[in-house]
Amino acid sequence: MDLQYSPEHQAFRTEVRAFIARALPPELAHKVHLHLRLSKQDYLRWHTIVAAQGWVGASWPQEYGGTGWDPIRRHIWEEECAQAGAPIIMPFGVNMVGPVIMAFGSPAQKAHYLPRILSGEDWWCQGYSEPGAGSDLASLRTRAEKVSGQDGSQYWLVNGQKTWTTLAQHADMIFCLVRTDPQARKQEGISFLLIDMKSPGITLRPIHMLDEEHEVNEVFFDNVKVPLENLVGAENRGWTYAKYLLGHERTGIAVIGRYKHDLAALKRLAARQQNHGRALLQDPLFSAKLASLEIELMALEVTVLRTLCSQHQGPDAKASLLKVRGTELQQAIYELQMEAIGPYGLPFEPDYLEGRAEAPHTGFADAAALAGRYLNFRKASIYGGSNEIQRNIISQLILGL
Ligand SMILES: Cc1cc2nc3c(=O)[nH]c(=O)nc-3n(C[C@H](O)[C@H](O)[C@H](O)COP(=O)(O)OP(=O)(O)OC[C@H]3O[C@@H](n4cnc5c(N)ncnc54)[C@H](O)[C@@H]3O)c2cc1C
Repeated sequence: MDLQYSPEHQAFRTEVRAFIARALPPELAHKVHLHLRLSKQDYLRWHTIVAAQGWVGASWPQEYGGTGWDPIRRHIWEEECAQAGAPIIMPFGVNMVGPVIMAFGSPAQKAHYLPRILSGEDWWCQGYSEPGAGSDLASLRTRAEKVSGQDGSQYWLVNGQKTWTTLAQHADMIFCLVRTDPQARKQEGISFLLIDMKSPGITLRPIHMLDEEHEVNEVFFDNVKVPLENLVGAENRGWTYAKYLLGHERTGIAVIGRYKHDLAALKRLAARQQNHGRALLQDPLFSAKLASLEIELMALEVTVLRTLCSQHQGPDAKASLLKVRGTELQQAIYELQMEAIGPYGLPFEPDYLEGRAEAPHTGFADAAALAGRYLNFRKASIYGGSNEIQRNIISQLILGL
């Protein structure tokens, strides 16, 4: 594998850097660099700017309005966005349901939903997990029955509950796994439905995270009517589409550009932080830990690039491997950040994350939010399928255990 960027890729990096320098609002970058909480408007503001440039569908083919970029260009784009402090483009539409609709959706679904994902008109959320159906996802019980209305028209009637639904409070649409054949073997009676979040019968209950952020929700479906045409692909084939989506989700969780940015921030912090009269960065024990993380990150970067270049599809062991290593490294970086700021990490004040704290933080401005981030990212080894389960998948697919 040639690790040098070609002249074309270097020119592409220059173009991307120039676009971001021109288009990214400084106040958004400021919030991202200080790890403050972003509002829906913040995310949509950047999404709309990128959409106008035609770059939201970084991984999409051109026939659906995507960029058609090769994996290296996508990697460069993500890296430059992270370095500059751009908010993420929400993955639920672009990286998760979008590829499923492209691969398995009807022509009408493609024509309707894909442009709306690109423009940011629809904010999607993911309705997979349920109480009692997380790791054992195929045990899900939310039921969709095909029923006839009084006028003879047919629709799906959905009843049940989803949980851990990220940012559902902002969502216009939810993609849901629902049980359509309770008699079939559990993986074979599941379908993939697209549901309008404004449908009567849907209610949300917030779940607050360790850092007090309202990031996840319970979603309840009480006799929710869903048009028949909102079924993706064939009835009872949803498990296949669900796994296809998970492959995209897990690969996308190892966002190398962001980790590199976080590691660089950690180095800057350690250069400023004093420890027994010298910079923490000079401390041999600390710098050894830092070097070890950096080496791990470089190894992961090469693995990610190799995976992207192999153009794999679906949930295979590589996606699981990237998910496990990516989240482990991310948590290790945040843990070392906490170690670096020492006592300044203790007074955890959610108000700093909202950017509305009245008194200045006692430590560096960029350290004020780190405790919240550290606490928040305990989630990373759980969501997208817990790391224990990913290790099971790796052991089955690679080691044949
Ligand atoms: C912050 C956050 C956001 C999320 N967002 C979403 C979302 O938007 N949409 C959505 O659908 N879901 C979402 N999830 C759900 C997530 O995918 C599940 O939490 C995850 O799959 C684990 O399922 P569970 O919580 O039911 O844990 P359980 O399945 O109850 O597992 C509990 C523990 O037991 C371990 N375990 C279970 N079975 C085995 C086994 N066979 N072998 C070894 N260990 C095992 C697990 O690894 C875990 O450590 C989110 C979760 C979190 C924490």
